[in-house]
Amino acid sequence: MTTLTRADWEQRARDLKIEGRAYINGEYTDAVSGETFECISPVDGRLLGKIASCDAADAQRAVDNARATFNSGVWSRLAPAKRKAVMIRFAGLLKQNAQELALLETLDMGKPISDSLGIDVPGAAQALSWSGEAIDKIYDEVAATPHDQLGLVTREPVGVVGAIVPWNFPLMMACWKLGPALSTGNSVILKPSEKSPLTAIRIAALAVEAGIPKGVLNVLPGYGHTVGKALALHMDVDTLVFTGSTKIAKQLMIYSGESNMKRVWLEAGGKSPNIVFADAPDLQAAAESAAGAIAFNQGEVCTAGSRLLVERSIKDTFLPLVIEALKTWKPGNPLDPSTTVGALVDTQQMNTVLSYIESGHTDGAKLVAGGKRILEETGGTYVEPTIFDGVSNAMKIAQEEIFGPVLSVITFDTAEEAVQIANDTPYGLAAAVWTRDISKAHLTAKALRAGSVWVNQYDGGDMTAPFGGFKQSGNGRDKSLHAFDKYTELKATWIKL
Ligand code: NAD
Repeated sequence: MTTLTRADWEQRARDLKIEGRAYINGEYTDAVSGETFECISPVDGRLLGKIASCDAADAQRAVDNARATFNSGVWSRLAPAKRKAVMIRFAGLLKQNAQELALLETLDMGKPISDSLGIDVPGAAQALSWSGEAIDKIYDEVAATPHDQLGLVTREPVGVVGAIVPWNFPLMMACWKLGPALSTGNSVILKPSEKSPLTAIRIAALAVEAGIPKGVLNVLPGYGHTVGKALALHMDVDTLVFTGSTKIAKQLMIYSGESNMKRVWLEAGGKSPNIVFADAPDLQAAAESAAGAIAFNQGEVCTAGSRLLVERSIKDTFLPLVIEALKTWKPGNPLDPSTTVGALVDTQQMNTVLSYIESGHTDGAKLVAGGKRILEETGGTYVEPTIFDGVSNAMKIAQEEIFGPVLSVITFDTAEEAVQIANDTPYGLAAAVWTRDISKAHLTAKALRAGSVWVNQYDGGDMTAPFGGFKQSGNGRDKSLHAFDKYTELKATWIKL
């Protein structure tokens, strides 16, 4: 692939045709109401386009189509090996259109183009192909029945899946759902975030081009309180899969109870601890990793290492290394391939992050890096990666998910205290431990109430391992074969012989 310069990307951005309509039954279509909302780029405040503002009427259309397609069996009863081939083609089309998708993602939510191109698009394609490749290699079970009985334990697609996703990794989060949901034969209605709808809208057409029958994948852009709520309350949506905030995750459980008890699978927020013991094998590597864990993707990462727990005896050596490492994470125009930190997703999110920085000051934490909005003259929403030292775990900046580049540094004296502080939030998504003592590593990892634990690294992983949260970080898991549980019902069939 040719390497594009910032000027090349800017030219492509000017030439880009933005599709903002919903996608139902294989066609782009306006919202039934004709309503639209504006899609504004956080890169420089430019208007990217008008997006269909779907609501309950569009949800009804999409669910009716998804149900009819599911019942027809055109996809749900297709041989797994055939679905596999289509999913691999779908993944291939994402890769073929990688530059366009990366550009849409960067313009829409502000992340660096190098990340969109190097991480998001390949990660999304991998999620589709991995699930597709697996689907004809999974076997059902025969129960340990008496001689005159045959007990079949089989998995069936659930039917119509509503997938509601966030704006921080719009394409990748969508594909973490679409990979297993489509591979297992379901029909899906994807609702992207109103802050970042563009790549979801674009890939709907790629799915059909790959051979996924019309009506199997429908995309409804719009607000959470309109079309999102309508899907969550719909009596004919069988399963709701969600990635987003804990607040909305709880609301979706209520909607399920108020409607048809649809299954609700939630990937929610985090406030992940990154624990550095004095015997960490490489303090420089730990410092660089700690900086990346809060600055990558502008800190808009559910697993951001937003609480850095440092053993007191190394604090004065270690913190300067982190501050120095953070200098390499400099906000800039995301269309410049050398940029490592882009713009926050919108003005609202920027103001939220700035208000948390204010709260750090008010609560008496000590600012040691960053702390300000910058590049205001560009019209974009950029905030410096920020570090507060002297944070107590009770402070708001240590308890609440900021979803921006703000790191809280907390000191501890013993492994027990580190674990106690680490577990002392409502969240349980991820955690990391740095130590050269293998027993301490294992014991700490076991004691941490988190869905993913990293040892001597931060944020490792691929499609082979499950991803999700303990506590109020959610339920169920994305990625790996475990993700298939969300998209299938387990059936026992008893045959009298
Ligand atoms: P959000 O909860 O505000 O929105 C997520 C989605 O829910 C959006 O599509 C939104 O439109 C929709 N929504 C909002 N209100 C709704 C309602 N009443 N009914 C139905 N749908 C509704 O979250 P966000 O700000 O888009 O994303 C950030 C959050 O996502 C953070 O908390 C982050 O930790 C979390 N996240 C979690 C993971 C994970 O895998 N655990 C991954 C990425 C992001």
